[in-house]
Amino acid sequence: MKLYLPFKKMRILTFFTLLFIGFSYSSANAETSKRIALSFDDAPRGTGPMFSGNERSEALIAALAKVNAGPVAFFVTTKNLDLNDNRVRIGSYAKAGHLIANHSHNHPWLHKIDAKTYIEGIDTAESLLEGFDNRRPWFRFPYLDEGRTLEKRDKVRQALTKRGLKNGYVTVDNFDWYLEQKWLEAAQSQQNVDLDALRLVYIDVLVGAVDFFDSLARETLDRSPAHVLLLHENDLAALFIDDLVVELRKQGWEIISPDEAYQDPIASKTPQTLMAGEGLVAALAVEKGIEAGRLSHLAVEETQIDQLLADRLVFRTSGALELSNPH
Ligand SMILES: [Zn+2]
Repeated sequence: MKLYLPFKKMRILTFFTLLFIGFSYSSANAETSKRIALSFDDAPRGTGPMFSGNERSEALIAALAKVNAGPVAFFVTTKNLDLNDNRVRIGSYAKAGHLIANHSHNHPWLHKIDAKTYIEGIDTAESLLEGFDNRRPWFRFPYLDEGRTLEKRDKVRQALTKRGLKNGYVTVDNFDWYLEQKWLEAAQSQQNVDLDALRLVYIDVLVGAVDFFDSLARETLDRSPAHVLLLHENDLAALFIDDLVVELRKQGWEIISPDEAYQDPIASKTPQTLMAGEGLVAALAVEKGIEAGRLSHLAVEETQIDQLLADRLVFRTSGALELSNPH
């Protein structure tokens, strides 16, 4: 027996050494890796500049499948769930393997209504979403508005906890909805739309937003968390999400499931600041003393997006080329 002891000890030592190396490697890997989950708000949205609701859902599911980017999360506003084919559309997202969560019944600003009414809306949405596959107990605050008084904010936080719901936070905010609105306005006023140029603007704005919030996290939290990208269920996403995923991967990002993202330690942080409108990383950065002015960047500034659209000649009045050319 004695003879074997050193071997046994060695084996135990080796086991712990390997365990330690493995642990160090995996935690170092998590700190340096660039991971991001995709989430789409306001589903099911109505007709957009290019697609009907049904067409959009089909295109979006196909584009996500093409680049194998699922599962993603759909945060559903339930007010119109029983109109048209909306229930079928949400079902089709779930059937494609995507995750379904709560984005309120009628999309209110928390600071504009009382907590009781707000919480009733959360409950209504929960009950209307019953029965869908791939449900997740997440609530995303419309407009990322968590209220403007501590009292109201805490009432809603407590109500969520009581119901077993978690904050479906984002870490990367942006104005993809504004870009969609500009496209809709251009389409309605019969302007020509250069879709290739629009695609590049979409990608640049979103990749820029991802980089911005990741740098902010590295600077103020000393780490890169698993990110959650805020997108909307709009025509831009249906047309360009595959291109965006390809570009993110090219830049070293791994697309992960929202389930994995919400396991990140950042999920347990509840910032005390009421400045939640640009997502969790921004709120934590503000709490660490960064000035709010530092949170200005291309993806959240209407004027900068307008400038980019103008510079890239994305929308043009018919005949504008001839008119602007003196020859
Ligand atoms: Zn929303």
